[in-house]
Amino acid sequence: MEQRITHACGHEQVHLLYGFDSQVARKARWLSTTKCRACFVADKQAEQAKAAAQDSAAIAHLDLPALTGSERQVGWATAIRAGRLAALTANPHTRAAADCDLCLRIVDAEWWIDHRDLSHADLIARTAELLPVADMLVNHQRSEAVRHERPATL
Ligand SMILES: [Zn+2]
Repeated sequence: MEQRITHACGHEQVHLLYGFDSQVARKARWLSTTKCRACFVADKQAEQAKAAAQDSAAIAHLDLPALTGSERQVGWATAIRAGRLAALTANPHTRAAADCDLCLRIVDAEWWIDHRDLSHADLIARTAELLPVADMLVNHQRSEAVRHERPATL
């Protein structure tokens, strides 16, 4: 049954509702408490744009190399990388410049896309696999740092 629903946002949208009358009435009531599709999509896009703006502000100090790949891959991977680096920069456990440095060396858009669901720790481990020499340097710097942090009277 086609029903014209007035959504919580004030817009009307036609919905196809199936079932018994009581079910249709329940669905119609529920739909009237939600936003229409257009507003839902607009909200999502606004959220994404806000997150993207926050990400790029958070990593504005980083010198990001251009990514390589198809135009579509680069566009997607740029957003993934921005989100990841913003999160790494904000996280006190991974803020170490070294971790970001490793990520900054990876310019393959496909790599960022393939690894987008990894945890921060796993991602950093993968960058180390990819960049073994860089990793050695980083580990060296880390052990140096640990040594320096230790109080002299231990
Ligand atoms: Zn609406």
